[in-house]
Amino acid sequence: MQQQMAGHHADPVVGYSLHNRRYLNVTNRCTLRCAFCPKFNKTWEVQGYPLRLYQEPTVEQMLDAVGDPKAYEAVVFCGLGEPTLRLDAVLTVARQLKARGAPAIRINTDGLASLVHGRDVTPEMAGCIDALSVSLNAQDAFTYERHCRPKLPGAYPALLDFVRNARVHVPEVTVTAVDGLPGVDISACEALARELGVGFRRRVLDQVG
Ligand code: SF4
Repeated sequence: MQQQMAGHHADPVVGYSLHNRRYLNVTNRCTLRCAFCPKFNKTWEVQGYPLRLYQEPTVEQMLDAVGDPKAYEAVVFCGLGEPTLRLDAVLTVARQLKARGAPAIRINTDGLASLVHGRDVTPEMAGCIDALSVSLNAQDAFTYERHCRPKLPGAYPALLDFVRNARVHVPEVTVTAVDGLPGVDISACEALARELGVGFRRRVLDQVG
């Protein structure tokens, strides 16, 4: 077990468990700069786990942090950052965990991997990623830009394309939006999810992960 100390010099938490799922803290880097992000509010803790990384975990460290994947309902690539910025490492770990009998592998993502990597990356997820939870966050580009402050132009349409493509290769795709942000219309987000042919989950502010 990793130490669960808050503060600057706490041991980095690579893996942590919540609700019988094993979460992997992949990176602190992000494609977005969400105004509501805990890390811009000087908090690096999520559900009591200090997630600040001074060094990103290697493939081996992530595999070690899971151990036997059959012990969990699911392994989730997550962290206070965007896991798909380390797509190769994530897919390598995912393939190995599947080979070791992992019941389910999920990535919590901003859905901008194809935009960042400059190609449709969703076919690479086929067979090793069982579920994606994609932060839709808003019903339109204007509201999205306001809250998520993407570093790259064209982020919102790229996110929608990612979701459409992911549907073909990943069995379970869910988009999420945070309830309580000004201008975010949760029922419009839900309608958009239906239009995209994917599931929808409403999230509560301050519960990243
Ligand atoms: S994507 Fe997540 S970790 Fe990154 S800035 Fe937004 S809320 Fe924070």
